[in-house]
Amino acid sequence: MIIKGGTFGPVATNSYVVFGERGGPAIVVDAPLGAEPWVEHTLAQNDLTPEALYLTHGHWDHCVDAYLWARKGVPVWAGGGDEDWIADPAPFNPALFGFPPKTPGVALDRVLGEGDTFAVGDLEFTMMHTPGHSPGCWVAWEKHHGEVLVGDLIFAQGIGRTDFPRSDPGAMITSLGRVLTEIPGEHRIYPGHGPWAATMAEAEPWARMFM
Ligand SMILES: [Zn+2]
Repeated sequence: MIIKGGTFGPVATNSYVVFGERGGPAIVVDAPLGAEPWVEHTLAQNDLTPEALYLTHGHWDHCVDAYLWARKGVPVWAGGGDEDWIADPAPFNPALFGFPPKTPGVALDRVLGEGDTFAVGDLEFTMMHTPGHSPGCWVAWEKHHGEVLVGDLIFAQGIGRTDFPRSDPGAMITSLGRVLTEIPGEHRIYPGHGPWAATMAEAEPWARMFM
């Protein structure tokens, strides 16, 4: 299992290209502003076919460029809860981002639910609903290889903010408790911001400071 990562846009948002082996299918994780040329380059370099764009949640910095993939015919998937934001991407505080021009939204081709799985070649991801940062914040866990796409739930050294519209600090604590309990400590996390490939055990003490 190979995960290539890059960081893009005004709030340093991560995008990933996830695949089992060169020459096969891949999924693209999140669509930060300006990530698309790097993703295309990474796909071409590894002879990959993008099976879907998977959005970890519906915040502007993660879905602003989803329309670029939808226009190419790449299906867009996400867990449920943030569909309206994905359909109409806009930052909560436009001034913070230099008043970015509006981009078209996308209608999800697949809305994943709790316990749903999706496959990318030999890889199989299981969905866990982990609301708090946003209602539609989800974790996609590849249990066999021990890699977890965690969005803005948990970072290498911290957790996602819960002071945004529709954030829920109580739900955040429950969601963090759930992943820290259910996911083995040696599994690696791929968050929406900051360094990736820290283990859950390495991230845990930082997350516990907020719980
Ligand atoms: Zn977010």
